[in-house]
Amino acid sequence: MFPPESHEPMLAIRSYASSRMPTAAVLSIGDELVLGQITDRNGGWLSEELLKLGLMVNERRTVADDRVAIAAALKELAARAALVVVTGGLGPTDDDLSREALADALGVELEEDGRALQHLLDLYQRRGRPMPAMNRKQALRPKCAQCLDNPHGTAPGIAARLGGSEVFLLPGPPNEMRPMFHDFVSPAVLGITAQAGGLQIATASVHSCGLPESAAAELIRPFMERGSNPLVGTTASGAVVSARIRAMGAAAMDGALERTVQEVERAWAPYAFGRDGLTLPAALGETLRRENAMLAVAESCSGGGVGAFITSVAGSSRWFAGGFITYSNELKRDLCGVPQAMLADHGAVSEEVARALARSAAERCNCRFGLSITGVAGPDGGSIEKPVGLVWVGLCDRDAGHGASTTKARPFQLLGDRETVRERIARVGLQWVRLTALGFGDVPLLWERPSQSARA
Ligand code: ATP
Repeated sequence: MFPPESHEPMLAIRSYASSRMPTAAVLSIGDELVLGQITDRNGGWLSEELLKLGLMVNERRTVADDRVAIAAALKELAARAALVVVTGGLGPTDDDLSREALADALGVELEEDGRALQHLLDLYQRRGRPMPAMNRKQALRPKCAQCLDNPHGTAPGIAARLGGSEVFLLPGPPNEMRPMFHDFVSPAVLGITAQAGGLQIATASVHSCGLPESAAAELIRPFMERGSNPLVGTTASGAVVSARIRAMGAAAMDGALERTVQEVERAWAPYAFGRDGLTLPAALGETLRRENAMLAVAESCSGGGVGAFITSVAGSSRWFAGGFITYSNELKRDLCGVPQAMLADHGAVSEEVARALARSAAERCNCRFGLSITGVAGPDGGSIEKPVGLVWVGLCDRDAGHGASTTKARPFQLLGDRETVRERIARVGLQWVRLTALGFGDVPLLWERPSQSARA
């Protein structure tokens, strides 16, 4: 229900001192993209994949279905980049103009490609119907260009050399584009980087949760100075602050990247929970599995979001039992045994109720850990004493050492709309469980109300 943690790369890329380094450009074609009717799912993906292969994208553009504009963009990008990857505009209709624009940029005519035509005819034959006349256009390619097989659709890709640049036109639908990228563009990238003397760029990321971005940046300031190589930048997405580490040229090959990753992890300990594609719930799962511990939840304002987060991780049944969505006071009482008097005296959003819910989740689900979340997600329902964004998080640890069981609760004050509050507190809650399992349960956490502290 909550969006996945964004592990998108930085879009604002600082230029690297060496102008000898080859770069790539990405061009997304389509009126619907320019008008904001659909979200570009190709540009970011391509940037990330190219970076993994060692080639940095230093320009990304989106252009409408306009032959002249596409041809102009192709020429401009090819003049600067060693590789240009274009997606979209390869369909059979009149507004699919990428192949015509490439021919214009190359200054050549289009011609029919016999193999591509046969591929189209075979495809329609397998579908048991004749090929519509308009699809024949998809077998056209600029003279001196090559068609690329598309195993998942009708639109073949096209590869050509434009000036000193290798240009690839790929179909727009991501499920067609991605395999073609791996089949045709990846080998070309390896050729480009090999010609430039090997791997040109290597990247990694380290993720943390619970630190404010400014504090996280302060802890790794020396690595963030302009001109450093490897260079570190931070991005914040919800409660997760990530360090994006980029090593260029020789530093990409000599272990400097790994050393910097370790320095960042050390600086952010114990808040750093993982590298690269590892999400917070997956990192929590690794910790709980190592500890042989199970978790249960009792959720009020997060309405099952914590459980949804956790169960997005394959294999989470090995460390997550389940729990209760106790949105109403009646269910807090009936399912989790929260006393009516406690609800009446302190209200559902209170330290007492958060503790009672956490304990009950752990005990009733027979788990070591019980996590509870009860708060005012807004936009209504706030008061002076309990403003919108106030959330109490409870955590019961039934094996806190020497057979002792402890239950703590901490108040958080979050900013943002309802969904933001619910999403952020879910992440902070998971990080608190992880830190507690690692023995760091008392470290300060982002958005915690300073006036009150956890008590056993
Ligand atoms: P096809 O012949 O398969 O339609 P195409 O290259 O002509 O391929 P387009 O006509 O430009 O592709 O787009 C077809 C559909 O692909 C779009 O309606 C959209 O759903 C999807 N698509 C295209 N480009 C993108 C993009 N950058 N991000 C996400 N989806 C895209």
